[in-house]
Amino acid sequence: MEPECGLALSARKVEYLKFIFETGGTVRTSEIASAFNVDPSTITKTLAELAAAEYIRHVPYHGVCLTKTGEQHAEFLVKRHRILSLMLVRNGLLPRDACNEASRFESQVTKKAVDRICHFMGHPRQSACGEITHDEDCLERGRGTQS
Ligand SMILES: [Zn+2]
Ligand SMILES: [Zn+2]
Repeated sequence: MEPECGLALSARKVEYLKFIFETGGTVRTSEIASAFNVDPSTITKTLAELAAAEYIRHVPYHGVCLTKTGEQHAEFLVKRHRILSLMLVRNGLLPRDACNEASRFESQVTKKAVDRICHFMGHPRQSACGEITHDEDCLERGRGTQS
């Protein structure tokens, strides 16, 4: 599956990558474990898979940090979350509920769809949980016909 289509990662991996991105720098495994309320041993396996796919790398004795690829992908993951939760807010959900709902299905939404929704909503700048960034993909390609 092509990483750029947006469906390369499971919902759990999406949440971990967003968390590492939003925390910034090197993040300890124990921090991730406590943020998601799971056992560190289960985190280790998922992080090893993310490292094998070159989204993150291990920093000995300190934890993990994003690679360049991981950072670029995380930017998309954050944008996707914010666009989808804003879409839900505009359809009547409370911001907090919108965030939770979006987190459950966002990993199934393609980049192409996110770009088109962004365009359709007029490239909004602010979502319930942060600023939304725009790039050529949503500004130019989002306008195009579905192909
Ligand atoms: Zn949110
Ligand atoms: Zn946009």
